Amino acid sequence: MVAKPLKPNSPSSLFESKQPHGTGRIGSRRQDSNIKAVTSGDTPYTSASTFEELNLSPELLKGVYVEMKFEKPSKIQAISLPMILNPPFKDLIAQAHNGSGKTTCFTLGMLSRVDPKLKAPQAFCICPTRELAIQNLEVLRKMGKYTGITSECGVPMDHIPIHQRPPIMAQVVIGTLGTIKSWMSTKKLGVSFLKILVFDEADHMLAEDGFKGESLYIMENIKKISSHCQVLLFSATFNDVVKNFTSMVVNDDHNQLFIKKEELSLESVKQYKVNVPDEFAKVMVVKDRIFEFGERVGQTIIFVRTRNSATMLHRSLADLGYDCTTIQGALRQEDRDKIVKEFKDGLTQVLISTDLLARGFDQQQVNLVINYDLPVKHDNRTAPDCEVYLHRIGRAGRFGCKGAVFNLLCGETDNMIMSKIESHFGTKVTEVPDWRSEDDFKAALRSAGLL
Ligand code: ADP
Ligand code: MG
Repeated sequence: MVAKPLKPNSPSSLFESKQPHGTGRIGSRRQDSNIKAVTSGDTPYTSASTFEELNLSPELLKGVYVEMKFEKPSKIQAISLPMILNPPFKDLIAQAHNGSGKTTCFTLGMLSRVDPKLKAPQAFCICPTRELAIQNLEVLRKMGKYTGITSECGVPMDHIPIHQRPPIMAQVVIGTLGTIKSWMSTKKLGVSFLKILVFDEADHMLAEDGFKGESLYIMENIKKISSHCQVLLFSATFNDVVKNFTSMVVNDDHNQLFIKKEELSLESVKQYKVNVPDEFAKVMVVKDRIFEFGERVGQTIIFVRTRNSATMLHRSLADLGYDCTTIQGALRQEDRDKIVKEFKDGLTQVLISTDLLARGFDQQQVNLVINYDLPVKHDNRTAPDCEVYLHRIGRAGRFGCKGAVFNLLCGETDNMIMSKIESHFGTKVTEVPDWRSEDDFKAALRSAGLL
């Protein structure tokens, strides 16, 4: 790992005063190598190589070992946790690879900083989707099992009108932006004792075409009352625009960890492209290859562009006698929760999803990702959304597991979009020569280490 200062006069010149620091050689997992640590000021951070070195409470250590069954910190955990847990509790912008264990960084951060004796909301974690909020809360409850710290999930619930809610007493609140914002604006959620505010998938939360307005509302309102609240921004992606912006929303004197985009793709996840002549052929590839071999290699997520294409693919497969489930934002909340739970419990093998699950969704058994439609910008269907691409393919290969991605390309525009994605990340996506060939697919899966 090399520590590098940011280039002077680059768009990030706000960071010019930051001194590079801390190059602990901790952890050697490929998926989180090449993290550039740039810490500010002269605080002597050292990276921890064991959870013991992080000075976690015995209750938390027990949660990490007994409940989570972790042995040692991943690299991002080893580097970021000393920054998060030690005074002066500086704000942190942290980028690390998909599946490298960012949730543990901020979960241990929240659980360590909460005073168990103070029965008031002290830590918030804000997420882009209800699915991610629920998942993060499950991790926090498991990891914090022996701490006695209370928590609450802030996601929309159809059956509880806000005015009928009692004030929130839980010490940690994990939820979606909309719900947290409405709890705050209706004064159901107080921020007077807030010590730590986390944004998961922070680049999306602060992007112009994401949730920037709402995120800023929350940050500003919190800062007015709890000016010393520590802000943690985590994601696998930070494009240049968001990167520049994030540095303005945190304290000047913050820490940051960034990775070059060319180093973000996971080596353990093999990427393929398959040219198909028409939509019928796309359905055939899913039917004959994914359903045929998918089961042997783990679970599969098939990403589609719209709710409508999700419904169409689901119907085509059902007509052919193939069972799968589909998740998208138009479903009822209880149905979304049920579909995710069934998939997490391994009761379903193939899940069709819009970009609802593109970010953060963690299921170690997912080894195959299919881009049935390539990810494109909302306002320009010929421009790739490279960040979403990286997040989608990061649903496979969690924490070093092997995985494969098949991009189904239909026509020239798709090929043009694919090559833009390849050059953006500096990766070569291997072509599967013939969409009709079973042997070609087998060879691809074998080469990905899945067969
Ligand atoms: P991301 O960085 O994408 O947010 P997650 O936090 O979801 O990644 O972690 C990915 C997976 O790795 C999870 O299933 C998590 O339980 C596992 N994991 C995280 N940290 C460790 C660790 N130190 N040892 C073993 N597994 C870990
Ligand atoms: Mg995550």
